[in-house]
Amino acid sequence: MRFYWSGNEETRMTNYADFHRRSIEDREGFWSEQAKLVDWQSPPQQVCDYSNPPFAKWFVGGTTNLCHNAVDRHLKDRADQAALIFVSTETNQEKVYTFRELHTEVQRMAAVLKDLGVQKGDRVLIYMPMIPEAAFAMLACTRLGAIHSVVFGGFASGALASRIEDSAPRVIVSADGGLRGGKAVEYKPLLDEAIRLSAHKPESVLLVDRQVAPMPLVEGRDRLWGPLREKHLNTSVPCEWVDATHPSYTLYTSGTTGKPKGVQRDTGGYAVALAASMKHIYCGNPGETYFSTSDIGWVVGHSYIIYGPLIAGMATIMYEGLPIRPDGGIWWSLVEKYKVTVMFSAPTAIRVLKKQDPALLSKYDLSTLRALFLAGEPLDEPTAQWISAGLGKPIIDNYWQTETGWPILSICKGVDDAASKFGSPGKPVYGYDVKLLDDQTGEELAGGDVKGVVCVEGPLPPGCMQTVWRDDARFVSTYWKQLSGKWVYSTFDWGVKDKDGYFYILGRTDDVINVAGHRLGTREIEESISSHPNVAEVAVVGVADQLKGQVAMAFAVVKDASQLTDEAAALKLEGEIMKLVDRDLGAVARPARVRFVTVLPKTRSGKVLRRAIQAVCESRDTGDLTTMDDPAALQQIRDLVTG
Ligand code: ATP
Ligand code: MG
Repeated sequence: MRFYWSGNEETRMTNYADFHRRSIEDREGFWSEQAKLVDWQSPPQQVCDYSNPPFAKWFVGGTTNLCHNAVDRHLKDRADQAALIFVSTETNQEKVYTFRELHTEVQRMAAVLKDLGVQKGDRVLIYMPMIPEAAFAMLACTRLGAIHSVVFGGFASGALASRIEDSAPRVIVSADGGLRGGKAVEYKPLLDEAIRLSAHKPESVLLVDRQVAPMPLVEGRDRLWGPLREKHLNTSVPCEWVDATHPSYTLYTSGTTGKPKGVQRDTGGYAVALAASMKHIYCGNPGETYFSTSDIGWVVGHSYIIYGPLIAGMATIMYEGLPIRPDGGIWWSLVEKYKVTVMFSAPTAIRVLKKQDPALLSKYDLSTLRALFLAGEPLDEPTAQWISAGLGKPIIDNYWQTETGWPILSICKGVDDAASKFGSPGKPVYGYDVKLLDDQTGEELAGGDVKGVVCVEGPLPPGCMQTVWRDDARFVSTYWKQLSGKWVYSTFDWGVKDKDGYFYILGRTDDVINVAGHRLGTREIEESISSHPNVAEVAVVGVADQLKGQVAMAFAVVKDASQLTDEAAALKLEGEIMKLVDRDLGAVARPARVRFVTVLPKTRSGKVLRRAIQAVCESRDTGDLTTMDDPAALQQIRDLVTG
């Protein structure tokens, strides 16, 4: 069987269904082939040990190293090619590190961490802005076999404290501050407070001084990266070969639906899964440039800023700054300048751009760009249409989770000829035995517009979570169910499958609204509302109602607020929107109210916090809000609801 590589179109495989089927039916054969995409110190003896379900051990007996695969192994062929391209529109810095330079910097960082006592299996918490040292730290950890735990920079001390306590790091790597829209976020006071709050105390804190914020040092604990690095300018630190099943990192989910879960990832399975995804999904070739606009604090940053592109021998862009500063063309100017071939972003970012001048999309030469991948949230059709028309490139919706580490649903560009359908993230990715299950009976639904819960029959493919960090029982009880003797993983997302096998995600299982016995996905109503030309973004939640059980409530951000001059104008727009929903979905789905806000409450990763909106609407406690971005956004809703 031959597989399509971008740039070699004649070998494109025509039948993706066969490719997918083989990945499930001949799991061993399929994944042992993919395993050849990475370097092993000693080859795996067994592809998958599933003797203790739902725990899956991939590539048992093999030893490898993530940092070796991302950095060292490219020295032979591409030492002087770009590896890490750092761009900050906050400090106006731009610096390109070749693979050779990256190799050197990572070893310096590894040497310093070793001096601070870090050994294989130790945890290192990384609380950093988007600067090269953050990438060095991640790679240095995996080089040493230490387990990194990256916490999104600028999270408040409460969120940080719980992560310090849970991961119990020997060392924390941090910096004086991050910058956002020209304003400094001072990290050090947040970090000091978090360490004070946490029962676990790190032995050392390694600090990068960027000179953007004050950074008082705690004697005996805090060390400065600059001078320590100087001591190791020429130190070489070899890669520690670890078992394929050795944990590479832990990372928390975004906290959209409640308390974040600590996802633990392995080494060998992850390396193979990423290498395979770069080939079959993203079609990135060695020597090209990949640009993911995410942050290292999220799973996309782990998989597709750091490890995936580097494993594939690509240069990766690490961008610090806003998508609209100095203007909404900044990303596209980087595509032109660095000849980006593959780009990855999130619908929430595209909606931000949608409020900017569309001419910025055609101002730069984007001829190298082959596709834009989007993930993290439902991609509504109007947004997909807008960006697709503006760029004139394929827009590919990816559906996945922190837990899985790489896509569950996508169009696999490298092995599938199928076109995208707007509103759908495509079909099950190879390796995932995706099932749509009835949430009441657990029975498999055939598809054809019947709604069900998106599940994956075990074992999960390589690269997915091994367990919840230090809590196997929570892993099993949170995610797994045994149905007719088979272990099934739940995504907690609700979906439908059309006759061509394309899935549509309708929202989270707890976002289902039950209006007078009709079960509706908030996503369906949002989709309808956002097709109104003046709606930029909308969140719909179900609110308890004495008569109907629940009613839908909508909170919308308008594109052009100048039209909302007074109460009458708002009511008029509300009426228009309700008519739209009546037409698309029927009166049963019509929101009780459509209210207008300037911004929606979101997690720091850009996901709408529907559960918090719902709690406010029902005058309940809002629960864990540690990952919320802008508290003022929720206040606007509170004012509307109580006002
Ligand atoms: P938590 O699990 O802590 O509540 P979270 O689910 O938001 O937070 P992530 O792992 O960052 O944490 O997000 C994964 C979820 O994001 C998916 O389960 C799904 O609900 C949503 N999602 C991701 N990609 C898509 C997509 N392409 N289309 C629709 N929804 C998506
Ligand atoms: Mg989740």
